[in-house]
Amino acid sequence: MNIETLLRENIKNLKPYSSARDEYTGEAMVFLDANENPFNQPYNRYPDPLQRELKVEISKMKGCRPEQIFLGNGSDEPIDLLFRAFCEPGQDNIVTIDPTYGMYQVSADINHVEVKKVLLKDDFSFSADDLLEEVNENTKLIFLCSPNNPTGNLLDKQEMLKVTKEFAGLVVVDEAYIDFAPGASLLSELDQFENLVVLQTFSKAWGMAAIRLGMAFASEAVIHVLNKIKYPYNINILTQQKALDLIKKEEKKNEWVKILITERNKIAEQLVDLPFVQKVYASEANFILVQMHEARGIYEFLVENGIIVRDRSKVVLCNDSLRITIGSEEENEILMTKLRELI
Ligand SMILES: *Cc1c(COP(=O)(O)O)cnc(C)c1O
Repeated sequence: MNIETLLRENIKNLKPYSSARDEYTGEAMVFLDANENPFNQPYNRYPDPLQRELKVEISKMKGCRPEQIFLGNGSDEPIDLLFRAFCEPGQDNIVTIDPTYGMYQVSADINHVEVKKVLLKDDFSFSADDLLEEVNENTKLIFLCSPNNPTGNLLDKQEMLKVTKEFAGLVVVDEAYIDFAPGASLLSELDQFENLVVLQTFSKAWGMAAIRLGMAFASEAVIHVLNKIKYPYNINILTQQKALDLIKKEEKKNEWVKILITERNKIAEQLVDLPFVQKVYASEANFILVQMHEARGIYEFLVENGIIVRDRSKVVLCNDSLRITIGSEEENEILMTKLRELI
């Protein structure tokens, strides 16, 4: 596997922007190299373009090397950068499952890249062979999402690894919800596959959607490419500091995850008992997909009562289904009380 040969020609030949902070990274008495203002410390200084301190802490937590980490403005940034680095507009394509997270399609459309979709089976599982069958010589990326959004299920690990072994491009596994499914991450496989990219985020289990911090884990060759084409100072200092603070309190995140899993299982049981609920799909995430009689009507009833869930009833394989995020115990009780009024 040679990452270089997968790259678009213009990216391969690109000479990246070199910032003042790239050229000199040591300690100095006087910094007069970046046209910064000497006043208003510490916000007068450009942040570390490679977020070294933060990556060291993340690497300890995840059991990988800092050089295997890219940090982005949400997961959306590495998703977009992968398109820009590897997919020639109007020529290349990606393969993904259907239904899945909408951002892969949007990023593909922005970059004028075709999306080839492989329908999941009725139980929302997928087969490596079905996916690989869609691959042609212009397929550069395969996107998988596990646990998958909006279906909530984990994808089979052996099938994902089979895809990674047999595909000659990059396999991106989006693990935005992996904290809710302990033990299921593909991060431990990183050293085995130079073409594996694992996406995680601070937006869900960590409760920090507002600071916009996404993580991509991959081989050094892939991380090098992402660093080469990103905006020089893509992660601001407030985000870096906030993330460092919260990582020190990882137990807090674990506590939240535990509560949310308990709530998820409780709500799932309660939903089954509602007469208009047809199916509650098993979930390994912090949301549940629920098939209901007249889902659109129930969605509108909830909106009228100030409760917003996601209407997925027009999504393939999700007919008549709503996607409900697990909230606090109080929020979930408000939801259930309202739903019971419909009985
Ligand atoms: C919520 C979500 C993300 C998170 O995106 P950020 O840009 O990191 O907030 C990524 N992937 C999936 C599948 C999601 O549902």
